Amino acid sequence: MEYTLCIIKPDAISKGFTGKIIDECLKAGFTIHGIRKVGLTRDQARSFYKVHEHKPFFEPLIAFMTSGPSVALVLKKENAIEDFRALMGETDARKAQKGTLRQKYGEDNRKNAVHGSDSPENAKKEIAFFFANIDLI
Ligand code: GDP
Ligand code: MG
Repeated sequence: MEYTLCIIKPDAISKGFTGKIIDECLKAGFTIHGIRKVGLTRDQARSFYKVHEHKPFFEPLIAFMTSGPSVALVLKKENAIEDFRALMGETDARKAQKGTLRQKYGEDNRKNAVHGSDSPENAKKEIAFFFANIDLI
């Protein structure tokens, strides 16, 4: 079994899509191993997205991620990391494949409804970022 970190981002929360997105995760075979509502501070958002700190979209991304609450989930499934990236669709919601979470619930290349870890190493780090002491069993 593998674990991945999902974040339902502030745009999707404010549009009332939380339940629909969680339901789609369950229907796609993921189980919820951890879940919490979070209000990211600027420092937390900057730290979470540190890899992008020199990109032109960094400051708007931080403003967006701190604009309202998010929901962080640890999703569990075989091949969870790759399978959740596929369920999410590509970064720009306008280009995401039909039926993906970003195509259905996102808006553009920033307001794209969901985050998903992109590698086992990052999944481990990102899970620890939101869920201290969680058992991955
Ligand atoms: P992801 O792994 O598919 O989420 O994409 P990245 O790791 O490349 O980017 C992190 C987040 O930054 C994305 O999910 C978007 O919310 C935002 N983002 C990425 N690229 C752009 C961009 O070109 N413009 C803007 N405005 N936001 C972006
Ligand atoms: Mg990424």
